[in-house]
Amino acid sequence: MTQRHKLDLLDNAIDSLNEALTKYQQGQAGDVKAYKFCVLHLSHFLELVLKHYVTLAHPLLVYKYPFAKDFNDESQTIGLQEAINFLKNEGKDLTDQFLKDLAWLKKLRNRIEHYKFDMEVAEVEATIGRLVRAFVEFDQAHANLELDDLIETGQYGLFLELADNYDMNLKKAENEVELECRVNHDDPDFQVYHCDECGHDTLIPNQDSETGYRCAFCGNEDSDDMEIRCGLCDMPWSKGLMRYLDWTDEGHWMYVCPRCLHDPEYVNDD
Ligand SMILES: [Zn+2]
Ligand SMILES: [Zn+2]
Repeated sequence: MTQRHKLDLLDNAIDSLNEALTKYQQGQAGDVKAYKFCVLHLSHFLELVLKHYVTLAHPLLVYKYPFAKDFNDESQTIGLQEAINFLKNEGKDLTDQFLKDLAWLKKLRNRIEHYKFDMEVAEVEATIGRLVRAFVEFDQAHANLELDDLIETGQYGLFLELADNYDMNLKKAENEVELECRVNHDDPDFQVYHCDECGHDTLIPNQDSETGYRCAFCGNEDSDDMEIRCGLCDMPWSKGLMRYLDWTDEGHWMYVCPRCLHDPEYVNDD
């Protein structure tokens, strides 16, 4: 019974997070009232997810009176503050800023619930960003919920933007590269290159890119290693070995391979 309760907590938390992200997007698109719902969903999310962390120590700890004789599945559960206290007592570190932002969120939520809603959009955006970031840091340090699998694909970009987190962005890029590799494993032209800009092996073919490649992590589109086909003989060569030329002097730019350029190092007279 308690196992089910624990799973519900996380599921409901993630539902609220997805909702919060949708509302944030609507807020950014100009629907200022949507921020109000973003705040409500986000505060619901944080409460549930912090309670979920408590259950990782023991599922029964989410209940206010786990030692009670008449205990059952419907028994009263702990609140946000109790969850925070437990995590602190357990030795988990919650930064002062995170706690301050949580208090701010709670106050704002109360004002919203009592229809005394007025807010500075910039302040809401900044604080939501800080809360998401603090949450991600906490999660990475203590639980690792594999958020990339839990958050809706369409919302994950915004989540990363808010979390502004290097590790998560890299994980997302690596997942994208892995997926593309799987989809294109039959294509002999499909290649993954090392990106010199960011230092990761995340440079993959991209139709929107001028070079035909784009780094899934940093957006860089260039590498001397990438193979492209010679504009004359159609053979693939590393870009660093080719020259980009206006071959006909009529603005018809193309890459030309060393062999077609009769570079003595590459032309063998056999
Ligand atoms: Zn890169
Ligand atoms: Zn050539």
